[in-house]
Amino acid sequence: MSGRTHARACPERTCLGCRERAAKGDLLRIVEIEGDCVPDPRGTLPGRGAYVHPTPVCLDLAVRRRAFNRAYRARGPFDTTELRRFLERTPVEQPPLQ
Ligand SMILES: [Zn+2]
Repeated sequence: MSGRTHARACPERTCLGCRERAAKGDLLRIVEIEGDCVPDPRGTLPGRGAYVHPTPVCLDLAVRRRAFNRAYRARGPFDTTELRRFLERTPVEQPPLQ
């Protein structure tokens, strides 16, 4: 929010894993539900959301950095089993979302 004057058409979020900014549509929203990290590809689940690139690499980085603790302002630990399974099933190259 500082120093940049040009407005972007699509909102950006920062990947918790690699810390790179990307269009919201290129990142996977993850919500925390009772200690589970739940993938929310449609962005419809209520609650605090965190964003990572939809790859196991960025998930690993996020877990190692304890980035979820910061994002959710909770101590954890968080269960990422389902999330990991989801990412391993999802091809990295996705068609661009409109
Ligand atoms: Zn990333």
